Amino acid sequence: MAVVALVVLGAALVAVLAFTTPWTAAAAPAGGRAQASVSTDFTAEQKAREDRFHSELRPWSFGNLALGLALSLVLGLTPLGARIIELVARPLGGGWAWQAVLGGLALGLIGQIVSLPFSMRGEIALRRYGLSTQNWAGWWADIGKSWLISAVLGSLALLALFAVIRAAPRWWWAWVATGAAALVFVLSFAYPVLFEPIFNKFTPMPDTPLRAELVAMADRDRVPVKEVLVADASRRTTALNAYVSGYGASRRIVVYDTLLRDAPPAEVKLVVAHELGHAKRNDVLYNTAIGALGTAVGVCLWYLLMTWAPLLRRAGVTDPGDPRSLGLLLALLGLAGLLAMPVQNLSSRRIEARADEHALELTRDPATFVQMQRRLAVQNLADLDPNPVIYVMFSSHPTSPERIAQARDFATRAGIELRSTR
Ligand SMILES: [Zn+2]
Repeated sequence: MAVVALVVLGAALVAVLAFTTPWTAAAAPAGGRAQASVSTDFTAEQKAREDRFHSELRPWSFGNLALGLALSLVLGLTPLGARIIELVARPLGGGWAWQAVLGGLALGLIGQIVSLPFSMRGEIALRRYGLSTQNWAGWWADIGKSWLISAVLGSLALLALFAVIRAAPRWWWAWVATGAAALVFVLSFAYPVLFEPIFNKFTPMPDTPLRAELVAMADRDRVPVKEVLVADASRRTTALNAYVSGYGASRRIVVYDTLLRDAPPAEVKLVVAHELGHAKRNDVLYNTAIGALGTAVGVCLWYLLMTWAPLLRRAGVTDPGDPRSLGLLLALLGLAGLLAMPVQNLSSRRIEARADEHALELTRDPATFVQMQRRLAVQNLADLDPNPVIYVMFSSHPTSPERIAQARDFATRAGIELRSTR
């Protein structure tokens, strides 16, 4: 039955991605599409600064990723993880519930400690280039808060997980797949209400002419927006951004206070028009549904892998209901995350291009769109011309030159003249 579920859900996931991803955001203009070009809109100095920044940051962010994956493989594919879990639960009697909770906390803490020096070096690079405005007290507070949230949610999830596996040794995959998929929906809905306020303060946008324009634009777009919220992002960063989170009653459009401070109102309007594109298409709900389906597929796969005795033996366990198999679960999750990344980002880049097209159609202002993309790219030190492997694996958005090229195509089709803006 698990094989049947895996095949059916896996096929559904592939079909949904293949048929609902907006592969082309807009038709090509008669004379062909504009080529993405860095030098048309960015100076050599801007490109060089971004290059220096990324060559300083990358060793630490990739080192962090590689070491985290290597660590999870060592903990999961050798008996080391099982030994650690046994050890930390022993003083409390070594029952399965203590193993699940304390084992999860111990492995999580080891992962956190190993990644700390890399995250600190990354933060130092962000500060050297003026992107981070945090001091170490604030930085540690963020780490502590995230750790606390994952510790509480993770412990509850692991308790529930191993209770179900032990109660239903043959059918746990069906319960866990359903429960995990439901949890994805719940967390995505609750995220803006329960978790975002732990890290940032959100205030309704002040009553300015810009706010009135934004609300009128949302009206014209027939996207019900009760409130545009401003996040105090400047406590952490100088980067400019905006986003939509939640769905249904929890959906909100958030702009960074840095954007309102540093960008002219016309450009803020273009940013919000892009976010309205996400809201109108319910992109957050769509991504949540894809995530829930992917999670269910992953659970079926995990169940089947756990029937493979040599794999369990490697991890030093004999039974998936044994919480000492947690290291193996984390290793499989790490691998699955890495494999899912290029697929997620491929779909994400197409959805971003659709939101860009929406912004262009709604405002019919490609010139300001280009100015806005340039400002965001320069201030956020965006990678203007990423290595193809990095692009495929990690880019959730098209590059700024690609987004500008899309605006040029829009301008060509609309008969608007756009020159080089460098
Ligand atoms: Zn977007």
